Amino acid sequence: MGTDGVMRTILAELKSSFGVDVTPASELRGQELATWVAQAQDTLDIRLRSDWEAVGATLNLQRCPRCGAAIYKPEIPLHRCRQQNDA
Ligand SMILES: [Zn+2]
Repeated sequence: MGTDGVMRTILAELKSSFGVDVTPASELRGQELATWVAQAQDTLDIRLRSDWEAVGATLNLQRCPRCGAAIYKPEIPLHRCRQQNDA
């Protein structure tokens, strides 16, 4: 019961914050519900990652392979990497 309560909270968050259609989960309980939530989170994670790639391409951004910072491409030679500075 408690676990289902947590799952319902996550479902509400998925719906309100990310617009996920959680209707299919409304009849599920226990392990079925937990599995559905896990799959929805995986799908969302993948979508958010590909969204970042699309936004980054539009804004001419690239991630620094060392520190992970988003850098405007023309400024890559000027990038002062945190990883190097910390060394
Ligand atoms: Zn860097």
